[in-house]
Amino acid sequence: MGIWVLGRLTAEVSAECSRCLTHVEEPLDTEISEQFYPTVEISNGTAIATPLLEDGAFRIDATNELDVREAFRQNLITSLPMKPLCTPECAGICPDCGVNRNESKCHCGEDGRDPRWARLIELLPSTDIGVERGQ
Ligand SMILES: [Zn+2]
Ligand SMILES: [Zn+2]
Repeated sequence: MGIWVLGRLTAEVSAECSRCLTHVEEPLDTEISEQFYPTVEISNGTAIATPLLEDGAFRIDATNELDVREAFRQNLITSLPMKPLCTPECAGICPDCGVNRNESKCHCGEDGRDPRWARLIELLPSTDIGVERGQ
């Protein structure tokens, strides 16, 4: 009835890094495995009474050209990364000064402490009180 088409497509997709907005080329490697249904008889060109095809079923057009672009387009959309990154470690753009932290280090909110210590430092005053009470 139909023709199974197995195909592979490799492509470079242009995108913007979701953190720093630099241009990135995202390599894509995708495969399709789809069934295509003819709409006309190849021998005499008469229309085939196609049984009810589900929506989105791929058809071979009246010129008998099998157009796989739509199949690949749909496949590509689902395999595109939701949040492309220039590198997995991308430091992004500083929300305060707008500097691309991959290119230059900005000093916003920087007081030499690792921000991961901030929560601990917040706890310090109560620790001091605790020490005073202990005296
Ligand atoms: Zn980036
Ligand atoms: Zn900054």
